[in-house]
Amino acid sequence: MNAGIPTPPALQPAVSPEGSSSECPPCRFLFPAIRSIRGKLLVTICIVAGLGIIATASATYALWRMEDKIRIIESFYELNQKVLEIRRYEKNYFLFNDRKDLLSALDYVDQVRADIVALKEILFENRSELDFLHDKELGQYEAVSRRLLQAGLSAKNKQSLENSLRKHGQDITKSIFDMDTKARVRVETEVAGYQKSAVLILVLAVGLGAVLILYMMRWIMRPLTAIREASARIMQGEMNSIPMDDEIRCSVEGVELVNSLNLMLQALNTKQNQLVQSEKLAAIGKVTAGIAHEINNPLNNISLTAEVLLEDLPNLECSDRLDMVRDILVQSDRAREVVHHLLEFSRTRKSNTVESVDLVALVEASLALVKNQFRLGGIVCRYDHPDQPVLVNGNPNQLQQVLVNLLLNAVQAMQPNGRLNLTVFAQENEARIVVRDNGAGIAPEALTHIFDPFFTTKNEGTGLGLSLSYAIVKDHNGDIEVESEKGSGTTFRITLPLLHRDA
Ligand code: ADP
Repeated sequence: MNAGIPTPPALQPAVSPEGSSSECPPCRFLFPAIRSIRGKLLVTICIVAGLGIIATASATYALWRMEDKIRIIESFYELNQKVLEIRRYEKNYFLFNDRKDLLSALDYVDQVRADIVALKEILFENRSELDFLHDKELGQYEAVSRRLLQAGLSAKNKQSLENSLRKHGQDITKSIFDMDTKARVRVETEVAGYQKSAVLILVLAVGLGAVLILYMMRWIMRPLTAIREASARIMQGEMNSIPMDDEIRCSVEGVELVNSLNLMLQALNTKQNQLVQSEKLAAIGKVTAGIAHEINNPLNNISLTAEVLLEDLPNLECSDRLDMVRDILVQSDRAREVVHHLLEFSRTRKSNTVESVDLVALVEASLALVKNQFRLGGIVCRYDHPDQPVLVNGNPNQLQQVLVNLLLNAVQAMQPNGRLNLTVFAQENEARIVVRDNGAGIAPEALTHIFDPFFTTKNEGTGLGLSLSYAIVKDHNGDIEVESEKGSGTTFRITLPLLHRDA
């Protein structure tokens, strides 16, 4: 049964943030206020609002100008109607020869003149034509009308004046009609122009606004994305400090956040190292009883041999004396070896010290540390390994901590006469260590938690051994798996990248 392995903390030192105060090159040219996300948002909102105001103002201006043009068309329409009234009274005068009709026509002439003066206020084109109509054509029409109103005109004169009035009337109608047509065409062209430019400005404002928002969003998101990616790496166990790159330096908040995260990472790393140390002390405590026994035996032998030498020195043969001194040396070598293993294990090397490690020798050294634990627990151990070294790149101290932890756990799980099988071998590009015991095994519900920090089923357990072992193996780019059946035993398999001799 394979356990679902959680992600415990990894072991890597924090690197102090570098260059956190310097700015990214494009931001160097910006006001400090814009380097914050709040500043960038404010700038975006201001620019978009400015574009909106420009679009609205241009649309309002176009509407306002259109209103003017509509007023011009309306004025021409009214002018036209009044001219038609002049012509209607003129016609009535010719039909009924009633002076009142001519007087009414002159009334309308005055009104048309007043309208022309008003129209000139809003119309800036065709002013000369309007002046011509106002002064010349209407003036002539009025003069002829007034002469017709005079009494005592001969029939011939009257006829000629009537013809002249009709002609001037026609001229006025034509002038007004021409001017009206021209004004309408011009207004239509201008309105179409205003519509086009209003739509163009709107499209430009919307397009520019959208591009600006997208660019600003990218600019705002860049440092956040960089921090999110760094957080994902932390979740994968990479506890290195987040580098302060240009993207992060683009935002004040990004720099502050990364500085805080880096401080947090440093604190986490320190705590982790403390945990490793405390777990190691616990392991040393566990092996101490066995070690004491291991040292006691050679010391006893040395002291016994020394006593015999002291008492019987004159009576002993020279060869016996030599044998006894040699025995003392062998025994003291044994004791020194045990002390050496313990010292090696308790030595605190820098967690990132990496060297070529022979797993065959490392397992042997670990066995030497716990050998007496096996003897005291009545456990038989079998160790299979190739004759040549199985090399990996790693920190020997940390890897030994993993092995000692697995061996001590196995001893604790087994009854007297238990069997422990240890195997080290190389397969393709992988180095493997298999630790198999026939102990109590692990219940399925516990199996999914054994790599969790602080998970323990023992009264005096810390629950840190396997979580730290997991972190150490992962930190060596390796893997650790467990298979266990309650009552039958447990197997731990460690896989590490093999270091080839020529590498
Ligand atoms: P601790 O040994 O302090 O309890 P570990 O993290 O080393 O902490 O182990 C967690 C738990 O995993 C142990 O409490 C035990 O229940 C279980 N365990 C580990 N190794 C074995 C094993 N070889 N046989 C049975 N159970 C084991």
